[in-house]
Amino acid sequence: MITANKYFRDTFGHKMYKASISMNVTCPNRDGSKGTGGCIFCSEGGSGEFSASGCSISSQIERAVSQVRSKAGDNAGYIAYFQSFTNTYCLPDVLEKALSEASSAVGIEAVSIATRPDCLGPEILEVLAGQARKMPLFVELGLQTASDETAEFINRCYKTAEYADAVKSLKEIGANVITHIIFGLPGETHDMMMDTVRLAVDAGSDGYKFTCLYVLENTPLADLYRDNKVEILGQEEYFDIVEEAIGLLPEDAVVHRFTGDGPKKILIAPEWTKNKRQVVNYINRRFGL
Ligand code: SF4
Repeated sequence: MITANKYFRDTFGHKMYKASISMNVTCPNRDGSKGTGGCIFCSEGGSGEFSASGCSISSQIERAVSQVRSKAGDNAGYIAYFQSFTNTYCLPDVLEKALSEASSAVGIEAVSIATRPDCLGPEILEVLAGQARKMPLFVELGLQTASDETAEFINRCYKTAEYADAVKSLKEIGANVITHIIFGLPGETHDMMMDTVRLAVDAGSDGYKFTCLYVLENTPLADLYRDNKVEILGQEEYFDIVEEAIGLLPEDAVVHRFTGDGPKKILIAPEWTKNKRQVVNYINRRFGL
């Protein structure tokens, strides 16, 4: 396992920071084309509460870069990060224009785009292939679970088989694939969680973003949690799972995230994720980072 920091330093020669961007897109299981209401854990911001939406892509990048520049210093690069909702759920020319604007912004050395495996049709793949020829392209796929049963419960609205096909197509065009996996989804056993990791490894995912399930305000999951129908993992319990998952990864797999941190303003649980500094220290200690 390689940490994202090490991977970026080795690949780009310096530290890389993300500049989050919001595109004017939604998601097929929000707008009714596949489903409504979204995944049960997904907030109104489409899992991307931190970006400055509502202005042009270049100004969003400019703003994001200026926010971290004092910390980052001059010897750093930036990744244009299309984070919220499903960023390939748009017309190919809209995507092409957005990618072109993002990748020509000052300081941008790579692009990362979050999407779903079922939103990667041939024309979209062609646009992504063009982008991958220009600079490193990371595509983040929200798998969350390998179980179609759990997927139905969380309202993911695509079949697991589509994930492996998407990874294959993305690797063919030269994209670096990062898979999002959630541990602690309702009804999931320990073996099911490990099966999810094995599926992603077998599919050929390059990187991984793990997170514990967290409960945000105004989501269907929040209602289930308040009705005591969902159990949330404790810190030790969650990182025991992460440690075992890491043991299943190939040596060159990159772990981009050991756990997520939900936006504090709308985070209901788990309590332990609220103290980010404590969690980071715990991760560094436990995983020797
Ligand atoms: S696919 Fe992504 S953006 Fe859409 S509802 Fe699920 S988590 Fe949210």
